Amino acid sequence: MINPMIAANWKMHKTIPEAVAFAKQLKEKFPKPGDVDIVIAPPFTALFPVVEVLKDSPIHVSAQNMHWEEKGAYTGEISAAMLVDAGCEFIIIGHSERRTLFGETGGMLNKKIHAALKSGLKPIFCIGETLEERESGATFRIIQKQIKEGLNNIISDDIRKIALAYEPIWAIGTGKTATPPQAQEVHSFIRKTIATDLEYDRASEIVIIYGGSVNPENTDSLMNQPDINGALVGGAGLDFGSFADIIKISER
Ligand code: PEP
Repeated sequence: MINPMIAANWKMHKTIPEAVAFAKQLKEKFPKPGDVDIVIAPPFTALFPVVEVLKDSPIHVSAQNMHWEEKGAYTGEISAAMLVDAGCEFIIIGHSERRTLFGETGGMLNKKIHAALKSGLKPIFCIGETLEERESGATFRIIQKQIKEGLNNIISDDIRKIALAYEPIWAIGTGKTATPPQAQEVHSFIRKTIATDLEYDRASEIVIIYGGSVNPENTDSLMNQPDINGALVGGAGLDFGSFADIIKISER
């Protein structure tokens, strides 16, 4: 049975004191390993202080972005090794904001995934279609393309370390959630694509989480779908009460 993963992506929000205060509350509320894998992704500046707070706690820390090179003249960038050095375990790769606002392509994301795995970071790889793509019937084609590009040449032993996050772009930060059957249909397609196109024989064990306006009200119906193994939460993950409720509702 797959443990659900509930991850908060804080994006460009929270100062160090705010992030530390949130992490302390979370550690107090969830002191022991439960059956939900909890992940928080603070901005770069707060990563190390949050890791320090969460030492001896089951809560995992993720970064939101990285560069694929190990080191060098890449002003403003941060490598996978640096994130490991700061105590990160996870890395969000391919968030639609990185793809659309910062021009990240499938090829670049594939390099990032290879580099992350090499350094021991576990990728949370985001994929998802635009509203236009959905309305023109291109959803499955786009999802398949994103998986094939992003996970090109990843060996079987590494595929199991990757979580996929299905995030329809039209549902991110809009208050419009995909209906549970809409999300389930794509999650099931993602699992099949991993099994067939990547020829991975343990696709049933891959964590596939949903992201797009998840909140305490819609968590239960989403989590009841057989191929939805958790959530990547933006807005509601900034508020301690809402995030804690989403985790509680996701406990089996
Ligand atoms: C996100 O940005 O990954 C996200 C899912 O945001 P929100 O929950 O606010 O839609």
